[in-house]
Amino acid sequence: MSTIGENLIVLKDKLPNEVCLVAVSKTKPTEDINAAYQVGQRVFGENKVQEMCAKHEELPKDIQWHMIGHVQKNKIKYMGSFVSLIHGIDSISTIKEVNKQGLKHDRVIPILIQVKIAKEDSKFGVDVEQLDGFLTEFNNLSFKNVEIQGFMGMATNTPDQEVIKSEFSILKKLFDQYSSIYKSFRTLSMGMSGDYKLAIEVGSNMIRVGSAIFGKRNYDI
Ligand SMILES: *Cc1c(COP(=O)(O)O)cnc(C)c1O
Repeated sequence: MSTIGENLIVLKDKLPNEVCLVAVSKTKPTEDINAAYQVGQRVFGENKVQEMCAKHEELPKDIQWHMIGHVQKNKIKYMGSFVSLIHGIDSISTIKEVNKQGLKHDRVIPILIQVKIAKEDSKFGVDVEQLDGFLTEFNNLSFKNVEIQGFMGMATNTPDQEVIKSEFSILKKLFDQYSSIYKSFRTLSMGMSGDYKLAIEVGSNMIRVGSAIFGKRNYDI
Protein backbone atom coordinates (compact mmCIF):
# COMPACT_ATOMS: atom_id res chain seq x y z
CA MET A 1 0.00 0.00 0.00
CA SER A 2 1.11 3.60 -0.60
CA THR A 3 2.47 5.71 2.25
CA ILE A 4 -0.49 8.04 1.77
CA GLY A 5 -2.87 5.10 2.12
CA GLU A 6 -1.11 3.94 5.26
CA ASN A 7 -1.12 7.43 6.79
CA LEU A 8 -4.83 7.68 6.16
CA ILE A 9 -5.69 4.32 7.65
CA VAL A 10 -3.67 5.02 10.80
CA LEU A 11 -5.28 8.44 11.15
CA LYS A 12 -8.85 7.26 10.52
CA ASP A 13 -8.43 4.43 12.95
CA LYS A 14 -8.03 6.92 15.79
CA LEU A 15 -10.92 9.18 14.82
CA PRO A 16 -14.28 9.04 16.56
CA ASN A 17 -17.07 8.05 14.13
CA GLU A 18 -18.77 11.41 14.19
CA VAL A 19 -15.67 13.28 13.03
CA CYS A 20 -15.49 13.94 9.29
CA LEU A 21 -12.00 13.94 7.85
CA VAL A 22 -11.33 16.40 5.04
CA ALA A 23 -8.11 15.33 3.32
CA VAL A 24 -6.43 18.58 2.32
CA SER A 25 -4.85 17.89 -1.06
CA LYS A 26 -3.88 21.44 -2.07
CA THR A 27 -0.68 21.60 -4.16
CA LYS A 28 -0.64 17.77 -4.36
CA PRO A 29 -0.90 15.90 -7.67
CA THR A 30 -3.91 13.80 -8.65
CA GLU A 31 -1.87 10.60 -8.12
CA ASP A 32 -1.72 11.44 -4.42
CA ILE A 33 -5.46 11.98 -4.31
CA ASN A 34 -5.96 8.68 -6.09
CA ALA A 35 -3.82 6.94 -3.48
CA ALA A 36 -6.13 8.28 -0.78
CA TYR A 37 -9.21 7.43 -2.85
CA GLN A 38 -8.01 3.81 -3.15
CA VAL A 39 -8.28 3.39 0.61
CA GLY A 40 -11.76 4.85 0.70
CA GLN A 41 -11.25 8.59 1.23
CA ARG A 42 -13.94 10.60 -0.56
CA VAL A 43 -13.78 14.08 1.00
CA PHE A 44 -10.99 16.37 -0.17
CA GLY A 45 -10.18 20.00 0.57
CA GLU A 46 -8.56 22.56 -1.72
CA ASN A 47 -7.88 26.24 -1.22
CA LYS A 48 -7.64 27.44 -4.83
CA VAL A 49 -10.73 27.39 -7.02
CA GLN A 50 -8.89 26.74 -10.28
CA GLU A 51 -6.90 23.87 -8.82
CA MET A 52 -10.03 22.32 -7.33
CA CYS A 53 -11.93 22.60 -10.64
CA ALA A 54 -9.09 20.95 -12.57
CA LYS A 55 -8.93 18.08 -10.09
CA HIS A 56 -12.72 17.73 -10.09
CA GLU A 57 -12.63 17.38 -13.90
CA GLU A 58 -9.98 14.72 -13.81
CA LEU A 59 -10.92 12.60 -10.80
CA PRO A 60 -13.85 10.28 -9.94
CA LYS A 61 -17.17 12.05 -9.64
CA ASP A 62 -18.08 10.61 -6.26
CA ILE A 63 -15.42 12.77 -4.61
CA GLN A 64 -16.84 15.52 -2.40
CA TRP A 65 -14.87 18.73 -2.87
CA HIS A 66 -14.59 21.20 -0.02
CA MET A 67 -13.31 24.71 -0.62
CA ILE A 68 -11.31 25.55 2.51
CA GLY A 69 -9.57 28.71 1.34
CA HIS A 70 -10.81 32.25 1.29
CA VAL A 71 -12.64 32.63 -2.01
CA GLN A 72 -13.12 35.71 -4.10
CA LYS A 73 -16.67 36.40 -5.14
CA ASN A 74 -15.90 36.25 -8.83
CA LYS A 75 -14.59 32.68 -8.51
CA ILE A 76 -17.71 31.17 -6.94
CA LYS A 77 -19.23 30.61 -10.37
CA TYR A 78 -16.56 28.09 -11.35
CA MET A 79 -17.43 25.69 -8.55
CA GLY A 80 -21.15 26.42 -8.08
CA SER A 81 -22.27 23.24 -9.83
CA PHE A 82 -20.29 20.78 -7.73
CA VAL A 83 -18.70 22.17 -4.55
CA SER A 84 -19.96 20.20 -1.58
CA LEU A 85 -19.04 22.62 1.22
CA ILE A 86 -17.43 26.09 1.30
CA HIS A 87 -15.63 26.63 4.62
CA GLY A 88 -14.20 30.12 4.47
CA ILE A 89 -17.20 32.43 4.13
CA ASP A 90 -16.99 35.74 5.99
CA SER A 91 -19.06 38.26 4.08
CA ILE A 92 -22.71 38.70 3.17
CA SER A 93 -21.77 39.87 -0.31
CA THR A 94 -19.99 36.55 -0.95
CA ILE A 95 -23.05 34.71 0.34
CA LYS A 96 -25.20 36.64 -2.14
CA GLU A 97 -22.99 35.35 -4.94
CA VAL A 98 -23.11 31.78 -3.58
CA ASN A 99 -26.90 32.04 -3.50
CA LYS A 100 -26.94 33.28 -7.08
CA GLN A 101 -24.86 30.30 -8.20
CA GLY A 102 -27.03 27.92 -6.19
CA LEU A 103 -30.10 29.30 -7.94
CA LYS A 104 -28.44 28.96 -11.33
CA HIS A 105 -27.63 25.30 -10.68
CA ASP A 106 -30.89 24.60 -8.90
CA ARG A 107 -29.24 23.48 -5.66
CA VAL A 108 -28.66 24.59 -2.11
CA ILE A 109 -24.95 25.23 -1.55
CA PRO A 110 -23.76 24.44 1.99
CA ILE A 111 -21.38 26.91 3.62
CA LEU A 112 -19.59 27.42 6.92
CA ILE A 113 -18.96 30.84 8.40
CA GLN A 114 -15.31 31.41 9.21
CA VAL A 115 -14.99 32.95 12.65
CA LYS A 116 -11.87 34.81 13.74
CA ILE A 117 -10.70 33.09 16.90
CA ALA A 118 -6.92 33.45 16.66
CA LYS A 119 -5.18 36.18 18.61
CA GLU A 120 -2.82 36.81 15.74
CA ASP A 121 -3.87 39.33 13.14
CA SER A 122 -5.60 37.23 10.52
CA LYS A 123 -7.27 38.87 7.61
CA PHE A 124 -10.15 36.48 7.34
CA GLY A 125 -13.16 35.53 9.37
CA VAL A 126 -16.05 37.27 11.08
CA ASP A 127 -15.11 38.85 14.42
CA VAL A 128 -16.73 37.12 17.38
CA GLU A 129 -18.37 40.41 18.40
CA GLN A 130 -19.88 40.75 14.95
CA LEU A 131 -21.17 37.23 14.59
CA ASP A 132 -24.62 37.86 15.97
CA GLY A 133 -25.27 40.79 13.65
CA PHE A 134 -23.90 38.81 10.74
CA LEU A 135 -26.23 35.87 11.33
CA THR A 136 -29.21 38.15 11.87
CA GLU A 137 -28.52 39.90 8.59
CA PHE A 138 -28.16 36.54 6.87
CA ASN A 139 -31.48 35.39 8.25
CA ASN A 140 -33.29 38.53 7.25
CA LEU A 141 -32.17 38.07 3.67
CA SER A 142 -33.90 34.63 3.49
CA PHE A 143 -31.61 33.09 0.87
CA LYS A 144 -33.13 30.03 -0.76
CA ASN A 145 -30.05 28.52 -2.35
CA VAL A 146 -27.46 28.70 0.39
CA GLU A 147 -27.43 27.08 3.81
CA ILE A 148 -25.14 27.81 6.73
CA GLN A 149 -24.19 24.45 8.22
CA GLY A 150 -21.89 25.73 10.94
CA PHE A 151 -18.58 27.41 11.69
CA MET A 152 -14.96 27.07 10.66
CA GLY A 153 -12.04 28.37 12.65
CA MET A 154 -8.27 28.36 12.85
CA ALA A 155 -6.31 28.67 16.05
CA THR A 156 -3.20 30.78 16.49
CA ASN A 157 -0.10 29.13 15.06
CA THR A 158 1.66 28.52 18.38
CA PRO A 159 3.12 25.55 20.29
CA ASP A 160 1.17 26.71 23.35
CA GLN A 161 -1.58 24.08 23.72
CA GLU A 162 -3.49 26.17 26.23
CA VAL A 163 -3.84 29.05 23.80
CA ILE A 164 -5.05 26.72 21.05
CA LYS A 165 -7.45 25.01 23.41
CA SER A 166 -8.97 28.23 24.65
CA GLU A 167 -9.50 29.51 21.10
CA PHE A 168 -11.13 26.26 19.97
CA SER A 169 -13.30 26.36 23.09
CA ILE A 170 -14.60 29.80 22.20
CA LEU A 171 -15.77 28.52 18.83
CA LYS A 172 -17.29 25.36 20.31
CA LYS A 173 -19.30 27.47 22.73
CA LEU A 174 -20.56 29.70 19.93
CA PHE A 175 -21.38 26.64 17.85
CA ASP A 176 -23.47 25.13 20.65
CA GLN A 177 -25.21 28.42 21.23
CA TYR A 178 -26.20 28.95 17.60
CA SER A 179 -26.96 25.27 16.94
CA SER A 180 -29.81 25.55 19.35
CA ILE A 181 -31.26 28.46 17.34
CA TYR A 182 -30.41 27.47 13.77
CA LYS A 183 -31.52 23.97 12.89
CA SER A 184 -29.26 23.80 9.83
CA PHE A 185 -26.14 23.93 12.03
CA ARG A 186 -24.36 20.60 12.21
CA THR A 187 -20.69 21.13 11.38
CA LEU A 188 -17.85 22.57 13.42
CA SER A 189 -14.74 22.59 11.23
CA MET A 190 -11.62 23.03 13.31
CA GLY A 191 -8.32 21.22 13.59
CA MET A 192 -5.44 20.68 11.16
CA SER A 193 -2.41 18.33 11.16
CA GLY A 194 -0.82 19.99 14.18
CA ASP A 195 -3.87 20.49 16.36
CA TYR A 196 -6.67 18.15 15.29
CA LYS A 197 -6.43 15.97 18.41
CA LEU A 198 -6.98 18.99 20.62
CA ALA A 199 -9.78 20.22 18.34
CA ILE A 200 -11.61 16.90 18.64
CA GLU A 201 -11.19 16.92 22.41
CA VAL A 202 -12.84 20.32 22.48
CA GLY A 203 -15.72 19.20 20.24
CA SER A 204 -14.82 19.58 16.58
CA ASN A 205 -16.66 17.24 14.21
CA MET A 206 -14.78 18.10 11.02
CA ILE A 207 -11.01 18.25 10.71
CA ARG A 208 -8.96 19.48 7.75
CA VAL A 209 -5.75 17.48 7.57
CA GLY A 210 -3.13 17.87 4.85
CA SER A 211 0.51 17.29 5.67
CA ALA A 212 -0.13 14.46 8.15
CA ILE A 213 -1.60 12.48 5.24
CA PHE A 214 0.19 13.68 2.12
CA GLY A 215 3.50 14.79 3.61
CA LYS A 216 4.96 18.27 3.64
CA ARG A 217 3.99 20.63 0.87
CA ASN A 218 6.74 22.06 -1.31
CA TYR A 219 5.24 25.45 -1.20
CA ASP A 220 2.55 26.96 0.89
CA ILE A 221 -0.03 29.47 0.05
C1 LIG B 1 -3.65 23.97 4.33
C2 LIG B 1 -4.83 24.05 5.21
C3 LIG B 1 -5.13 23.01 6.12
C4 LIG B 1 -4.27 21.77 6.31
O1 LIG B 1 -3.07 22.08 6.91
P1 LIG B 1 -2.07 20.93 7.44
O2 LIG B 1 -1.29 21.60 8.49
O3 LIG B 1 -1.25 20.53 6.25
O4 LIG B 1 -2.89 19.81 7.93
C5 LIG B 1 -6.27 23.14 6.89
N1 LIG B 1 -7.09 24.21 6.79
C6 LIG B 1 -6.82 25.22 5.93
C7 LIG B 1 -7.77 26.38 5.87
C8 LIG B 1 -5.70 25.17 5.12
O5 LIG B 1 -5.46 26.19 4.28
